[in-house]
Amino acid sequence: MWSTAREIASGDLTRDLVQPLVVTPGKEFNSKYGNYRHSDFVGLPYGSKVGSHAGKGYIHVLRPTPELWTMALPHRTQILYLADIAFVTAHLNIKPGSRVIEAGTGSGSFSHSVARTIGEAGHLWSYEFHETRVNKAREEFAEHGISHIVTLTHRNVCKDGFTVTNEVDAVFLDLPGPWDAVDHAKSAMKKDRETRICCFSPCMEQVMRTVNALNDAGFVDIKMFETLLRPHEVIQNPVMPTIAQAGEKLKKAEVRREEKRQRQMAASRSARMHDHGAKRKREDTLEQDDDPTDVANSKRVKVEDEGMADLAAAPNNNGAITANGRNMVEMSVGAGATSTLESSEPSAAKVAVSKVLPEVRGHTSYLTFASLLPAIQQSTS
Ligand code: SAM
Repeated sequence: MWSTAREIASGDLTRDLVQPLVVTPGKEFNSKYGNYRHSDFVGLPYGSKVGSHAGKGYIHVLRPTPELWTMALPHRTQILYLADIAFVTAHLNIKPGSRVIEAGTGSGSFSHSVARTIGEAGHLWSYEFHETRVNKAREEFAEHGISHIVTLTHRNVCKDGFTVTNEVDAVFLDLPGPWDAVDHAKSAMKKDRETRICCFSPCMEQVMRTVNALNDAGFVDIKMFETLLRPHEVIQNPVMPTIAQAGEKLKKAEVRREEKRQRQMAASRSARMHDHGAKRKREDTLEQDDDPTDVANSKRVKVEDEGMADLAAAPNNNGAITANGRNMVEMSVGAGATSTLESSEPSAAKVAVSKVLPEVRGHTSYLTFASLLPAIQQSTS
């Protein structure tokens, strides 16, 4: 489970510790947690925990996914993280078979997730005007087996537009000036159905420029979202009794306490009678409500409470031993009604409770979405 601790502790996992690895028998993976032979990984189920040679550390070998790639990829630019990727994918209605444009490619974080979502039946046209980034992304797409799903083009899309016309269901623009690419995006989008666009901008001034460009180009249903992460702490709490149940339990506890008191008084009388003979016994019985006897009784109760063995060993006290065991638990837990209830009748039932932490994290940018309606619908509306 993820920790909710605020400070970094020794041994905490960081995303730096998620490392991509191409399993190559004959090679070794070396880290400060030990050395691992790649050949040892072959044939293991994904998710296996593998110990190091020296037996000091261990690693988990995980199946590569776009989520892990986003956590581990070499950053060449700022990237999209999973909260935004999921939101954009859902709100652009990207699904298996979708045809999608993204610009720019950057470090390829968004590209990997989209490639998985659209699958073999879909296609992603990705554009990037920084040549080194294009070459690196091309290498990675090939290594990860998604080259046939992604067409990567080295191009300035604000100046030169896209390479396809009336072709795509969705466009995602993660550029410094998306408004300059809005008209080009419109040409690339299908006109026989509703299509969607999303522009990712870091500040409100840029959002306003994008909204103006979208309005001018005839896009409708323009909405801006901000994705923020609010952690929920989920804990298991015992199910609390209703007021009626609590009242009933308190009554029972009261009856048990009274029974116990009676047993203690009887045990005390019996012990004294045994020790001092019949005459003294008669006097004790007559005096049982006087102060000195009360003191003796209360001392005796205290001894029981502390779990001393003498009472348990006392004659004529077998019934009290069993009862005493239960009562000691009640009393040692404390005088509070809740504690007594919980200790005398422990409840196995638990309920998951979610506490929303006040802190809000995760602002990266504003996401502006809009729709382009089919040409026929546009002309009649
Ligand atoms: N979405 C990407 C990801 O998740 O890895 C990150 C994109 S990065 C923030 C923006 C990229 O857009 C940069 O690599 C930049 O070189 C590229 N870019 C900026 N203006 C461009 C343009 N006019 N045409 C094509 N690419 C452009």
